[in-house]
Amino acid sequence: MAKGDSKILLIYTGGTIGMIKDFKTGSLRNFNFGDLLKHIPELHLLDCDIATHSFDEPIDSSNMNPKHWSEIALTIKDNYTSYDGFVILHGSDTMSYTASALSFMLENLCKPVIFTGSQLPIGDLRTDAKENLITSIQLASLQEKGVPVIKEVGLYFEYKLYRANRTTKINAEHFEAFASLNYPALAESGVHLDVNHAALLKPKPEKELIVHLKLEDNILLVKMFPGITEKTITHFFSLEGIKGVILETYGSGNLTTEAWFIAALQKLVDQKIPVINVTQCSGGSVAMGHYETSIELKDMGVISGKDITTEAAIAKLMYLLGRDDSATQFKTLFELPLRGEMDK
Ligand code: ASP
Repeated sequence: MAKGDSKILLIYTGGTIGMIKDFKTGSLRNFNFGDLLKHIPELHLLDCDIATHSFDEPIDSSNMNPKHWSEIALTIKDNYTSYDGFVILHGSDTMSYTASALSFMLENLCKPVIFTGSQLPIGDLRTDAKENLITSIQLASLQEKGVPVIKEVGLYFEYKLYRANRTTKINAEHFEAFASLNYPALAESGVHLDVNHAALLKPKPEKELIVHLKLEDNILLVKMFPGITEKTITHFFSLEGIKGVILETYGSGNLTTEAWFIAALQKLVDQKIPVINVTQCSGGSVAMGHYETSIELKDMGVISGKDITTEAAIAKLMYLLGRDDSATQFKTLFELPLRGEMDK
């Protein structure tokens, strides 16, 4: 393919970007990855070498699970020294989850791993796929003095590169499908590619890449709502084998203080099952103890998710539960930014 200084591996997992319309049924389906590249002759004009790797069976990202995340992580691991950067083509629906997971799975990452996709298929006249793909490759190729500029997992969509584990899909129709409400964009694409150097992660280059594949998926996410019943809560909190619970709470981390709810929570805490407090708000942070309705949670040892997204909290919980940390270490580690996913 295109020749140049940087070597980029394009990993195709599926999603709208590589779909065509089945004119019989009217629905979108995946097609051959080789055909995807035929639709973008512009790729030949880029100043880099592009190699491709495709999932055997590309999938709609609604079908993604930790096994697929491991497949992506292993592909990066196997090719880490041979390429300067990686671009992952992925459906937008669960892109923030996969990209957040990869940020934890790839410890000491010192090269760009950029996730992108599109709202319209690559073959569509009005597609957003071309710009997303071309700029993602350019961002992954950016180097200063032979060193990659971006050394973390990013998500590029509609003219903005974000830290992946800070993103959430916010719109099912607009080209601007993602937002990062608690962290600024890492780069913006206009006439020039404007990189926000101060916002980038600066990992230690001497450390070797460690790929973590052990993730614990026996976890529970409960979105609180006014009227949630004791029966529902006690049923879910007593599910067998549950290793960790994320509570999506109100505002700055507030919850009902009804006795039955506190008792159910206490039961989890007594069993040493970590409980993470994450806000339902798209922006802002949990601040336990700020209101009376969260003081008890703090006293019980509920873990603060601070300003983490739910997507990143799920990935971080799976990752940390896959390690062998003690309960106290677990709380300390969860409340620390490990990959720039939360404030200090
Ligand atoms: N359902 C598609 C997916 O996530 C949507 C997209 O690609 O944007 O795979």
